[in-house]
Amino acid sequence: MIKFEQVSKTYPGGFQALNQVSFHVEPGEMAFLTGHSGAGKSTLLKLIGMMERPTAGRVLINGHDLRRVTAKQIPYVRRDIGMIFQDHRLLMDKTVLDNVALPLLIEGYSMQEARKRVQASLEKVGLGDKLKHYPMMLSGGEQQRVGIARAVVNKPPLLLADEPTGNLDPKLSAEIIKLFEDFNRVGVSVLIATHDLGLIARLRYRTLSLRDGRMINDGLQEA
Ligand code: ADP
Ligand code: ADP
Repeated sequence: MIKFEQVSKTYPGGFQALNQVSFHVEPGEMAFLTGHSGAGKSTLLKLIGMMERPTAGRVLINGHDLRRVTAKQIPYVRRDIGMIFQDHRLLMDKTVLDNVALPLLIEGYSMQEARKRVQASLEKVGLGDKLKHYPMMLSGGEQQRVGIARAVVNKPPLLLADEPTGNLDPKLSAEIIKLFEDFNRVGVSVLIATHDLGLIARLRYRTLSLRDGRMINDGLQEA
């Protein structure tokens, strides 16, 4: 699903955020990506999401060699990827329905067609009754759930999350991780970047660790 071969990323200005990183994530796998702030986690996710391009090495996503993906093809390859951010990035002046429908409308669905899938997606995250709410009327945990509903509404085979529990307390964080487990159980590949070691210590998932742009560990976190 995700394959990195000797991938390096140097930003304009000369800072090397990733240094010869190699790993792969199988279809249907769920894994965590850890490392201190500045270790390169966001950069790694941005390479997968094609918000940044590698300086060297090869990235393959769901069979696509990203070197061969032209700017015009990026939106098509991105449809395979649901992205979730720490700050959820909801449009605050739009209802929950409009926020979650957005990826479908971009794909060319009519609102009428989209609505059913939005409803189903919101039910999966436990917010089936919040269609007409505005994000401001929701708690932080609920807002993050809306962000997840938006990421999964077009049923991508891969979910990427960048510090999805960063603003949440441990109980709400555990609930959010449970949601990712639900999607993983039905076959979705999941990669979650977090510096919250306490969160992953309680779970038995593969953990990829970055330090100063290098992959230093790829395996189960020691209990
Ligand atoms: P993490 O997500 O682990 O905190 P990041 O990938 O965000 O790490 O950042 C890794 C390093 O790359 C940091 O030192 C950061 O300042 C730097 N960096 C990130 N984005 C850019 C950019 N667009 N230009 C220059 N440096 C950047
Ligand atoms: P995120 O939490 O998504 O990694 P950041 O707060 O690290 O976001 O960065 C916000 C934006 O600024 C991103 O587009 C990132 O690439 C860019 N950025 C981060 N660090 C630097 C840096 N040292 N120099 C220039 N741009 C940076």
